[in-house]
Amino acid sequence: MAKDYYGLLGVHRNATDAELKRAYRRLAHEHHPDKNQGNKAAEEKFKEISEAYEVLSDPQKRAYYDQYGTAPGAQGQAGFGGFGMGDVFGDIFEQFFGGGAGRSRATAGDDLRYNLSISFEDAAFGTTKKIRVPRWERCSECDGLGARSRDGILACAACHGTGQVRIQQGFFSISRTCSKCGGEGRVITDPCPACTGRKRVERERTLSVKIPGGVETGTAIRLSGEGELGTQGGPPGDLYVVLNVEAHPIFEREGQDILCDVPITFVQAALGTEIEVPTLSGPAKLKVPAGTQPGHVFRLRGKGFPHLRGSGHGDQLCRVAVEVPAKLSSKQKELLKEFDCLSTDGCSPLTTGFWDKVREVFTEQTKK
Ligand SMILES: [Zn+2]
Ligand SMILES: [Zn+2]
Repeated sequence: MAKDYYGLLGVHRNATDAELKRAYRRLAHEHHPDKNQGNKAAEEKFKEISEAYEVLSDPQKRAYYDQYGTAPGAQGQAGFGGFGMGDVFGDIFEQFFGGGAGRSRATAGDDLRYNLSISFEDAAFGTTKKIRVPRWERCSECDGLGARSRDGILACAACHGTGQVRIQQGFFSISRTCSKCGGEGRVITDPCPACTGRKRVERERTLSVKIPGGVETGTAIRLSGEGELGTQGGPPGDLYVVLNVEAHPIFEREGQDILCDVPITFVQAALGTEIEVPTLSGPAKLKVPAGTQPGHVFRLRGKGFPHLRGSGHGDQLCRVAVEVPAKLSSKQKELLKEFDCLSTDGCSPLTTGFWDKVREVFTEQTKK
């Protein structure tokens, strides 16, 4: 299907190069993808007018088009292989919007990552931390010009200020980014002393990071617009503060719950007691009933981490560690022996139950 390139650009068939250029510039700015983000129709239109201009602005291609009604190298035309529309499109793009390959359009700044370690308590209650972040910023001395003044910037002699050089390749001449000026079309002859012509300077900034209660290792807090600056007017990137929560000597985290191993003596476990256990919000009373077994978990409601999204808190889980005395006096030994002699079946249900089961299993086996 032949395209009406003249119609697309809104010019007469005998339009001059200057008229073509003017028409294309106007339409290209109107339909530029950066101005019409997410607008498929505008993008399509932009591609079409770019294609039309690419063909009509080249005298040889224009002559071909006028004669055959199609672009050289278009589908179905033999003999122009290896020169895709993508290359053409890319070159046009660079020519009009300045800059080298890949950086011709306004690009958003890079996102930055900052690793921050915080304490277990800060993760539970939330905190505000000050961080120092190095970042490239527009040089304030020259206001991003790169030169001491505008007089210190000259058009690049190699590309005559276009940023592109044309290389003859057989039938076609192909645009390439000028290596002398890196596609900028300008060279700085009197660089700004503050940034030595780089237009940017590295600065360390102090930022305040608000950390909500309930965060965990790996939680990322986004500081919008605090990343690297964009180029050619593009928006800055974001800064992601990625948290690492330090281990606690007593507490361990399990989701929103806090696990804590609480040692008690075997006498306390046997007779029952009330003890004080540490929690993040201070000491709390814990009732240990008589006959509490090792490993039993008591739940202190609402003493855990706050939920990061939503309301409420997790629990603190106190896991009982019954301690067997490691050193006994002869008097203690004597009393324990006496205690053992007095022991009845009902006083150690786990032990009794276990040996009952053993007896059952092995008697069954001898019967077989
Ligand atoms: Zn140049
Ligand atoms: Zn500067």
